[in-house]
Amino acid sequence: LTTSETPAASPKTQKFLAHEHQLLIDGHWVPAATGKSFAVVNPADGSTIASVAEGGQEDINKAVAAARRAFESGPWHTMTASERGKLIWKLADLMDQHIEEFAEIESLDNGKPKAVAQVADVPLAIDLFRYMAGWATKIEGTTIPISVPYLSGAEFHSYTLREPVGVVGQIIPWNFPLLMAAWKLGPALATGCTVVLKVAEETPLTALRLGQLIQEAGFPPGVVNIITGFGETAGAALAAHPDVDKIAFTGSTEVGKLIVKAAGDTNLKKVTLELGGKSPNVILPDADLPAAIAGAANAIFFNHGQCCCAGSRLFVHRSQFDQVVEGVAEEAKKIRLGPGMHPESGMGPMVSKIQQDRVCGYLDAGLHEGARAVVGGKKLEGSGYFIEPTVLIDTHPHMKVIQEEIFGPVVAAVAFDDLEEVVATANNSIYGLAAAVWTKDISKAHRIAKRLKAGTVWVNCYNVFDASLPFGGYKQSGWGREMGHEAINLYTQTKAVTVQLA
Ligand code: NAD
Repeated sequence: LTTSETPAASPKTQKFLAHEHQLLIDGHWVPAATGKSFAVVNPADGSTIASVAEGGQEDINKAVAAARRAFESGPWHTMTASERGKLIWKLADLMDQHIEEFAEIESLDNGKPKAVAQVADVPLAIDLFRYMAGWATKIEGTTIPISVPYLSGAEFHSYTLREPVGVVGQIIPWNFPLLMAAWKLGPALATGCTVVLKVAEETPLTALRLGQLIQEAGFPPGVVNIITGFGETAGAALAAHPDVDKIAFTGSTEVGKLIVKAAGDTNLKKVTLELGGKSPNVILPDADLPAAIAGAANAIFFNHGQCCCAGSRLFVHRSQFDQVVEGVAEEAKKIRLGPGMHPESGMGPMVSKIQQDRVCGYLDAGLHEGARAVVGGKKLEGSGYFIEPTVLIDTHPHMKVIQEEIFGPVVAAVAFDDLEEVVATANNSIYGLAAAVWTKDISKAHRIAKRLKAGTVWVNCYNVFDASLPFGGYKQSGWGREMGHEAINLYTQTKAVTVQLA
């Protein structure tokens, strides 16, 4: 499918794209301090669709100062939890009125099918805000009975307060641009923090549209500041800023380590990280095979494999290996590649030329080392950054395609003989973000779920997300959790108050 046969975006979306895209600092849209901007590219054909301000160190400084003022002395500071919750809910309502526009902008910017963004990315983002709106009024401390041995006879009343962490820097990636903004902003706003959000340079647009709605909803100036710009400049400045109390980062493990270092070298700001993965998807011999095959295809091909939790290592019992590999390959062949805005596209392009080259590099390395592509195995020639959905076999545990995160529609299928072996192999990774097991034996499912070293385990399903479920990684897949109650905890800190009773 090509761009020439793809329907144009709606007038609303076109109007938004044509806009001059600036930085949101202290409630105002402003150009970058340097006056610089950069082009935003449609990965389906390489065309420029917008131009956005290139924020840098000075803009980050201004945004952090605005967030600090808003946190310490603005109306946000004195607002009740109920008022905060209502504002977040109002933002969700406003987003509800613009679902199609968000989906179109996301599709043009990131490459994903509009139809997918419309039923997944955007509704999940809205739902996240509603879920977090509810938390605003439910953040509670506890009362704790104490007895101090060296102060016998004295009487105390002790309790805890859960207070917002403060000014939060948030750095997000390009794979789910709007949804990642929601995962980050939702708990920060529910807890009363203020934010400087640095969006991915590849996909800045939906966050900017969200910024307009944040203003329309009536959030006070400085509560949410949005900076478009590059990682090594704007992102690094935010991570190293001495007046940022916490950094929440999603992206590569490599950059995650730089964030930790920047925090350690400066003010030891708190850090949460959601990083890479190489998630195992295990099909046991007693699984419902058609469901497992469809699930395995979804696990790797959803969002073009550009998911931190993509099921990129597929483990199948040797007795069914050929059948499952053939089934997943058939699913791959059915996927139509095309621009995300084309209604028949099942898979869009990779987000950028760089990402396409990265995935091709992995494919070349794997094939060179002796792996075989049952289906796919290369990029599409022509404009746009497309990669064929690929199933690799004949891999070895030491290969890069088995060890490293590819972040593309490439799954390596591996045969196993017994349960002990597959649990050990599945856990043999520096990552531990997600895992899945397919079986009809409920006891076996729970036993394996317990033994898999991953922050999420799906049983007889894959890619099931909900705002109430904590998401995050074991091992080098991250620190902390997003969504759910756990995210609220990570945007608050506990104060213990002790009162001596007269
Ligand atoms: P990245 O980690 O470089 O970028 C993610 C975010 O971090 C972006 O906003 C970027 O501007 C920012 N950033 C980059 N360098 C920074 C620095 N030095 N200091 C502060 N912020 C910085 O990811 P990428 O280059 O876009 O993709 C590389 C690989 O990362 C992918 O192939 C994939 O394996 C992985 N990745 C993982 C996720 C995830 O959700 N876990 C998302 C995107 C990419």
